[in-house]
Amino acid sequence: MSILDFDREHIWHPYTSATNPLKVFPVKRTEGVKIILEDGTELIDGMASWWCAVHGYNHPVLRKALCDQAEVMPHVMFGGLTHEPAVELARKLVDISPEPLQHVFLADSGSVSVEVAIKMAIQYWYVIGKPKKNRLMTVRNGYHGDTIGCMSVCDPVNGMHSMFTSILPKHIFAESPECGFEEGCSDEHFADFKSKIEEHAHELAAVILEPVVQGTGGMRFYSPEYLKRVREACDEHNVLLICDEIATGFGRTGTMFASEKAGICPDIMCVGKSITGGMMTLAATLATKEVAEGISSKGGVFMHGPTFMGNPLACAVANASIDLLLKSNWKERVAEISELLCSGLAPCAKSSAVADVRCLGAIGVVELKEPVDMESIQQEFVKRGVWVRPFGKLVYVMPPYIISNLELEALTSAICEVIGLQG
Ligand SMILES: *Cc1c(COP(=O)(O)O)cnc(C)c1O
Repeated sequence: MSILDFDREHIWHPYTSATNPLKVFPVKRTEGVKIILEDGTELIDGMASWWCAVHGYNHPVLRKALCDQAEVMPHVMFGGLTHEPAVELARKLVDISPEPLQHVFLADSGSVSVEVAIKMAIQYWYVIGKPKKNRLMTVRNGYHGDTIGCMSVCDPVNGMHSMFTSILPKHIFAESPECGFEEGCSDEHFADFKSKIEEHAHELAAVILEPVVQGTGGMRFYSPEYLKRVREACDEHNVLLICDEIATGFGRTGTMFASEKAGICPDIMCVGKSITGGMMTLAATLATKEVAEGISSKGGVFMHGPTFMGNPLACAVANASIDLLLKSNWKERVAEISELLCSGLAPCAKSSAVADVRCLGAIGVVELKEPVDMESIQQEFVKRGVWVRPFGKLVYVMPPYIISNLELEALTSAICEVIGLQG
């Protein structure tokens, strides 16, 4: 049986049928910005494996960090024990994040770090004597992961809540931010959020949102002014703010964290995805002293402890990846990629099938008027030597920062060509 046959019969792939799945392409290896298929086809990667591989694949420095750590200690439980890779990582995260964030919880995936953030917020109010503040508020078009707690704050439509409404906690949803990235945020733009937080503050533990860039829930960019007003409203109404930087962290939007664009600091922040440069699964939840002290007052302990918490392999790779990033000229590079994505994708706007073309940092988005046919569009991209994985109406890329200008041009012209076929 070929691997494709067994795969088709037995393996579940993300967001597709078990019995009639979309086609998958067998990959032989990866190298730099290339994904190399079994049949030898080389694809320029536009997805960075879902925001992760910022330094490209198989980076020698990351590989060395992984191998060196594997020689010494691949894993050890984190209960009652600690180690250099975890401590070094926590130190780095505290260093590069806004000053008030001082306490680090190491989680094993983005969704878990969001679950942890939600539990922290609820437990904080519980311990300090306000147990009724146990609901969350968010904005529509958000995405925070696929586990139950995360799903409850994802966009109810895009997140496909309907199958699970009977068991999902009912949180508060404000309208999606309508002020664009370049715009200010008027009273009118903020009216819905304002009225909902006023109405529900007494029962709200936290507001959770993706700062400035809404990723998988719609690839929307919104005004940093909006985020600033969210922070002010949270302060005014005694509600914690959780920023989910899992997609946006580590430079993707042109600043280390997207919330920096609004000059704000959340009470709790989630990071993940590119934290290890895409080599290992790892995430972290950072909290302020105030949140950590609240939870820990009256002898309180935080009740969460994944088996692979603080996995030394993942921490060692994360340390190497963050060092690589900090030593690189990532800011200039992301700005250059941004310009090339904007100019390279601009011609798509001419197609009658296209609703909008937008870029921010090293993220380029072509929004179509109708959902794409996944199976056929995927093949068209592969035929042209690029790896782009659209979903719904969105064709989007967030390439590795190491992509060359020529490769970027190949990527955007392939997108324009394929979009041209959609008309
Ligand atoms: C991907 C993502 C998550 C979930 O992370 P996983 O590692 O897939 O569990 C949560 N929030 C945002 C903003 C994400 O992009």
